[in-house]
Amino acid sequence: MTAGHLSCFETIQRLDLYLDRALGEDERRQVEQHLEECVHCAQIYAFEGKVLIEVREKLQRVDVPPMLRLQVLNLLARERGG
Ligand SMILES: [Zn+2]
Repeated sequence: MTAGHLSCFETIQRLDLYLDRALGEDERRQVEQHLEECVHCAQIYAFEGKVLIEVREKLQRVDVPPMLRLQVLNLLARERGG
């Protein structure tokens, strides 16, 4: 394993965590580095970020309990994954 270089697959896997700011410092930097170098992943990141922000705004507006919010986000993640 080469430290500091993620494959596209590894980057996509970490995108949700990255958007949630749930990654550690090292992994965050690796994702950022990959996004700077890879147009393909940068596009996915831009799209995912937009979707996630829209979903969150909607959820905030209807004031859903946090548990339900988590379930919705998990469902979305599963849909994207499968
Ligand atoms: Zn990539």
